[in-house]
Amino acid sequence: MERVVTGGNGIVIALAGNPNTGKTSLFNFITGSRQHVGNYPGVTVEKKEGFARVDDVEVVFTDLPGTYSLSPNSPDEEVARNELLSGHIDCVIIVVDTTKLERQLYFAAQVIEFGIPCVVALNMFDEFEHSGASLDVEQLSRILGTPCVRTVGNRGKGVTELLAVALKAATGETPAVGKPPVYRHEMEHAIDRAMDTIRGKTPLGERWTAINLLLYGPSFLSETVRKSLSASDYHRIVEIRAHLETLEGASVRAIVTEGRYGYASGAAAECLKMEGQPAVSLSDAIDSIVVHRWLGFPIFLLILWGIFQATFRLGNYPMEWLGMLFDWMGTFAASVLPAGVVRSLVVDGVIGGVGGVLVFVPNIVFLFLFISVLEDTGYMARAAFIMDKVMHCFGLHGKSFIPMVVGFGCTVPAIMATRILENRRDRLITMFVLPFMSCGARLPVYILLAGAFFGPENAGNIIFSLYLVGVAAALLIARLLTSFQPSSSPFVMELPPYRIPTLRSVLLHIWERTWLYVRKAGTTILFISLVIWALMFFPRPPEPLEPSGSNTTHHLEHSFAGRFGKFIEPVLRPLGFDWRVGVALTAGFAAKEVIVSTLGTVYSIREEETGGAEVSLQESLRTDPLFNPVKGYGLMLFILLYVPCAATLAVVKREAGGWKWAVLLAIYTTAVAWMVSFTFIRLAQMIG
Ligand code: GDP
Ligand code: MG
Repeated sequence: MERVVTGGNGIVIALAGNPNTGKTSLFNFITGSRQHVGNYPGVTVEKKEGFARVDDVEVVFTDLPGTYSLSPNSPDEEVARNELLSGHIDCVIIVVDTTKLERQLYFAAQVIEFGIPCVVALNMFDEFEHSGASLDVEQLSRILGTPCVRTVGNRGKGVTELLAVALKAATGETPAVGKPPVYRHEMEHAIDRAMDTIRGKTPLGERWTAINLLLYGPSFLSETVRKSLSASDYHRIVEIRAHLETLEGASVRAIVTEGRYGYASGAAAECLKMEGQPAVSLSDAIDSIVVHRWLGFPIFLLILWGIFQATFRLGNYPMEWLGMLFDWMGTFAASVLPAGVVRSLVVDGVIGGVGGVLVFVPNIVFLFLFISVLEDTGYMARAAFIMDKVMHCFGLHGKSFIPMVVGFGCTVPAIMATRILENRRDRLITMFVLPFMSCGARLPVYILLAGAFFGPENAGNIIFSLYLVGVAAALLIARLLTSFQPSSSPFVMELPPYRIPTLRSVLLHIWERTWLYVRKAGTTILFISLVIWALMFFPRPPEPLEPSGSNTTHHLEHSFAGRFGKFIEPVLRPLGFDWRVGVALTAGFAAKEVIVSTLGTVYSIREEETGGAEVSLQESLRTDPLFNPVKGYGLMLFILLYVPCAATLAVVKREAGGWKWAVLLAIYTTAVAWMVSFTFIRLAQMIG
C-alpha cells in the first residue's frame, strides 16, 4: 500500500485540505487502508496512495499532507503543491472542517484557483450540526462552482456519495472546475497582462501560473515549464509586478491574501446560519485546566507517569504467561532434540531470540493503547501547546514537539515528521535530538532490566525516569546546538476540539503497532538472532581442552562474537561492563529489541552448559555478580542514549541529505551515552 505507481490511464483523485480536517480518516474509509490518524496537525507528511473501485472504475487515491497554503514554504507543503503541479490528478477532494468553514475556504480558494475539477467534502459535519449552526449546501456549491458533500470521516458517513460525485467530476461528467477568487481591479488587470505574456507556454492553468509568477517568480515552476519561458518573459512579469505594487501601494502577496480572505468570508457569510450564541464548549472548559499556565505541565507529567506505570503493571501479567509459554517451548525442544548444534540453534537462537522479544507484546499493546487515546482525544495537541514554551527556552520551535511525540513510537517516522518544520536549521537540530526520545523498541529492554534490578514495584518509576532523561537530554542538546542562533519563527497551532476516540481508530492504531512489532520479531529479529547465535556458537573451542562444567564462558569468549566483544571491551570497562554487554550493545545497532534477545542467548548458552536449572533471564541478570542496580541503571542510560538503530541512520541520511549527517549522529550519540553513563555510575558509586 505504501507505494503505488500512478500512471496509465487510471483516474487519480487527491485528498487535500488543512491539517486535522479528516483527510486520512476519509482516505482510510475509501481505500480500506490503515494510515495513521491523529487528532493533531502534522500526522501525514508524505503522500500516501491507495486504490478503490468506484462504479467499476479503478481509481487511485492520494492522501496529501495537510497544509494551510499551497505556497512553497515547508517540505510537506511542497509535497502537496508538487502533487498538484504534476498534472496527473483528475480531481481534488478538498476536505474542510465544516466547523471552521470560513478559515478553511481560504485553502479551498487556492485549490479552486488552480483550475482543476474539485469536490468539497464538508467533513466533521456531525460536530458542525452539534454546534447548532446550519449550512445551505446548495448555495455553497453555487458560489464555489464545485459540488459539496456532507461527510463524517471517522465514521465513513457520506463517503459513498462523495465518491460518486468525485468520479463524475474527475471524468468531466459534471462541471466541477470552480469559480476562483476575483481580485482587486488593478490586480486583475496585471493578471491579464501576465497571462498574455505566458499564453501557450505553460501546460498548467494560465490564470494560476500568472498569479503565482507574480507572487513568487519562476522558482516554483518545474524545470520544463521554467525553460519554456524566455528571459524577456520573466522580465515582463517583473515589470508588471513593479507597476502594480507602486500603483496599489501594497505587495502582490497582500493583495492576493486579501482577495482570498474576502472570497472565503463572503462565501461563508452567504451560506452559514448561526443559531444563538455559542455556549462555552466543553473543550474550552477542559482546556482551562489542562493547558493552564501552572497546572498544565504537572498534569502532563502526571499523565506520562501514569502511562508508564500502567504499561508496566498491566503488561506484567500477560508477559509472565507468555514467558512461561516460551520457556515451556524451550524445555520441550531441548528434550526432543539431541544436544548439539541443532538444539542450541533452536533453543537459544530461535526460541530464545524471537521468544525473548515476543514476550513484550502485551506491554507494547498497552503503551500504544494509551498513546493512541492521547492522540485521538486531542490531548497530544495540548501537550505540544504546553511544551511550546519549554521548547522555546531550549531554542527549538514548538512544532518540533510533534516529531518528538512520534519518536516515542519509533524514531523513523519521527525523523520524517520533521518535514513539518519550515527551516532547515530547525529540521536538522530536531533530527539530531530525536533519537533520545525513547522509542518503542527500547521499551522491552527497559522492562527486562528494570524488572531485574529494581523489582516490579519500582520498575514503572524507573522506566518513567528514563523517558524523562531522554527528553531532558534532547532539550539540553538542542540548547547547545541552537545557542549560536536562537529560533525566531513563532508557533501557531490550532487546538482541535476534544473528541471521543472511536473504538475502530484505537484498535487499528494498536493493531498497526503491534503487528509491526510482531512482524519485526518474526523477520528482522529472527534473522539477526540467528546471525548472533552463530557468531556466539562458532568457532567451537577444541573439545579436549575443555574441562566439562566450566566450558561455557570460555566457549563464548572463544566465539567470533566473544572475540569481538573482547576487542571492544576496553571502551566499556570504565563503565564496568564486560564483553558480553558489548556484544549485546553492538547487536542492538541492528534493532534495539535485539539487545534483549542477545542477552537471552548469552545467558541461556551459559546456563545450558552449566547444566543449571531453568531460570529466567531476569533472574540470571539479577544474580550476575557483574551487575548491581547502579550499573543496571547505567546500562539503561547507555541504551537510551547511544547510537540509534540502522534504520534510523538510513532515514537521517535521506532526510538530512548525506551520510555525513548519519555518521555524525551515530558518533555523537554514542559519545553522549558513554559520558552520561560513566558520570552516573561514578557519582552513584561515590555517594554509595
Ligand atoms: P488529517 O490530518 O486531515 O489527515 O485528519 P485525520 O484523518 O488524522 O483526523 C483528525 C481527527 O479528526 C481524528 O481524531 C479523527 O478521528 C477525527 N475526525 C475525522 N473526521 C471526523 C468527522 O467527520 N467528525 C468527527 N467528529 N471527527 C472526525
Ligand atoms: Mg492525515
